[in-house]
Parts: sequence; structure tokens; C-alpha cells
Amino acid sequence: MRERSAADCRYLRFGVDATSPDGPIVSLCGHPARDGFSCVGPFLEEMPTTCGLWEEKPRSAPWHASASDQTRGTLPSGRE
Ligand code: SF4
Repeated sequence: MRERSAADCRYLRFGVDATSPDGPIVSLCGHPARDGFSCVGPFLEEMPTTCGLWEEKPRSAPWHASASDQTRGTLPSGRE
């Protein structure tokens, strides 16, 4: 996992907002202190977030696949 990547934050949610100037898919924060606001990001490779509310996404979450899992095309639990 990349170090403190915004993409790996447990509070990151995605939504659709047709009026957004950045496109219809928006990155939203679900942390109680920022709920409903945009995630501060950034969403760039090799650039960790400076967000003080960041917490790692639980590894048991089915959508949390490591880079090696994605390369092999397998699910995190080892199922193919
Ligand atoms: S704003 Fe911070 S806590 Fe919220 S989703 Fe982004 S990185 Fe996570």
C-alpha cells in the first residue's frame, strides 16, 4: 500500500454530481468531522495526503486489494 494515500482512506466515498466542474464523479469524505465535503486528496501516485483525519481502509474490506493482488488479478482473500 502507498503511504497514507487518500485513495486508501477508510472514509473516502464516491458520488455523482452532474453539476461538478471537475466531472460527474466526485470524491467525498465520510469522516464525521467532514461528512459530505470533498476529500482533500490529492489523488496522485507517490503523493500522500496531509489530511489529519486519514485512517487506513480495513484490510478485510473486499474492495481493499493490494497492488500485488491487482497485478495477479486475484481477490484479497486469495479467491480467484
Ligand atoms: S478528507 Fe481526509 S479523512 Fe476525508 S476521505 Fe479524504 S483523506 Fe480521508
